[in-house]
Amino acid sequence: MRLPFVSIAAAVTLVATPCIAQDDPQATAPAEASAPSGPPQLVLAIAVDQLSADLFAQYRRHFTEGLARLQQGAVFPSGYQSHAATETCPGHATILTGTHPARNGIIANAWFDPDIDRDDKRIYCAEDARDPASSSRQPVVSAEHLRVPTLGGWMKRADPRSLNVAVSAKDRAAMMMGGRNTDAAYWLTREGFSTFPARTPSAGVSAVNRDIAGVVARGEAAMELPAWCAARAGDVPVGGFTIGNGRFALPAGDSNAWRVSPRADEATANVALSLVDEFRLGRDNVTDVLAVSFSATDYIGHSYGHQGAEMCIQLAALDRTIGTLMAALDARGIDYVAVLTADHGGLDAVERLDRQALPGAAREGAELDTDALAAAVTARTGIAVAGGPLLLGGVQGDIYVSAEVKPREKARVVRSLIELLSGHPQVAAVFGASELEAAPLPSGSPQDWTLVDRARASFDPERSGDVVVLLERAVSPGRASPGYVATHGSPWDYDRRVPILFWRKGLPGLEQPAPVETIDIAPTLAAVIGLEVPETAFDGRCLDIDGSRANICGQ
Ligand code: ZN
Repeated sequence: MRLPFVSIAAAVTLVATPCIAQDDPQATAPAEASAPSGPPQLVLAIAVDQLSADLFAQYRRHFTEGLARLQQGAVFPSGYQSHAATETCPGHATILTGTHPARNGIIANAWFDPDIDRDDKRIYCAEDARDPASSSRQPVVSAEHLRVPTLGGWMKRADPRSLNVAVSAKDRAAMMMGGRNTDAAYWLTREGFSTFPARTPSAGVSAVNRDIAGVVARGEAAMELPAWCAARAGDVPVGGFTIGNGRFALPAGDSNAWRVSPRADEATANVALSLVDEFRLGRDNVTDVLAVSFSATDYIGHSYGHQGAEMCIQLAALDRTIGTLMAALDARGIDYVAVLTADHGGLDAVERLDRQALPGAAREGAELDTDALAAAVTARTGIAVAGGPLLLGGVQGDIYVSAEVKPREKARVVRSLIELLSGHPQVAAVFGASELEAAPLPSGSPQDWTLVDRARASFDPERSGDVVVLLERAVSPGRASPGYVATHGSPWDYDRRVPILFWRKGLPGLEQPAPVETIDIAPTLAAVIGLEVPETAFDGRCLDIDGSRANICGQ
């Protein structure tokens, strides 16, 4: 048979196409030609806040733009944020440091230091608590708590010409992906995207901020519901309000409604792109890093849960936003390697889970409130603190005994608290700090880790609580309120499992369903860019993301 005008390879493709399922993005997206060789000019590291492996699995066949292109590369649908404290700050810290929270020191979004010499004993993960102007609620933003370098930090050590830029709506995401040594770092404040006070704000970012202010002042109509989202739309009552049918109408002047919408991610991408041009990222043969964390998926997950119209509209918009960002890098002729993952997963609102075959889902009992627990401990032991709380922290994670309590009494408080919690049906496990400190650091596949292993991976003897509590599956901590109906932070796999995708032009694709870890991302990128680091720099391992015979890990 003669086939004029087409090569044999193209003919094979034409013949094969009808056999491939139409919803397979690898079949429909355009093929990439001419693989670049040598180190890429730019690392584009994307975190999607709260993008669980479950959400990715549910929606991946619908993506047509950025999230479809990323699926042409190396796809690890079961990446693990392996540790128990599945919160934003620890999750972002693992991605580009390649280390567990137990090593990088970022054990939670906030922890307590009962001995610190200020009234506010709560320590925010991304504040400089040494600065007298800083508090956990109004932090002086800093990556000072991060005990190890990020990939960008290692690259700058190897070659100071390497640029390291981080952007997110969340200060903690930008700090943990950028680390202590950034050339630019931007996060959202009341004044728009801002940087450290000592740095001159970028003109390009100021222009993005003016655009945001204009949109908020004018307001915008509700967003389109993609056809494939129609089945998700439906009202679910939660207390005195409903979720499930929202379409992000923006009332004029409502900056919070702007933030809890896909618009926040679009603006984050615009800030990132303006910094690409201002800093001329990826324009020479010294590799730079652009870390971008998109926060809207998390804001929307907390406000509306995972299974409504809201999350579906958000993921469709995120696909477009990431596509636009990648197309803009292409248009500038930049050879980049992209990685996308998440800082943690998440779970739907218990009220919808109850309708959707998970009736055991529940909200935390009021007797688990920290003050209620403190009262119960006082009733058992007679120990109390005059004029202050006996216990700090909360049952999803770390609880601390007040520094006002004497050491012998403290041991009784800890014992009593562990006894109280151990008997509670919503508590899966309770550990004393000494028990976790004595436990070995876990290894092996994260899906096989015990609860002790998971808690140990986010335990730091200086920063962790006197008692660490893990709630049972599908128990949601806190009360529901408008803007807060669902969360994450548990040691269960719906919060630990996240997708990990790598893409570079011409990289032969692969799909590896076996578990890998987010701490594997930094060593993998280090291999891709040919970065030399000390052998002990990372807790993770290099993943051979080249689906062909080549082994990028050099083994
Ligand atoms: Zn998060």
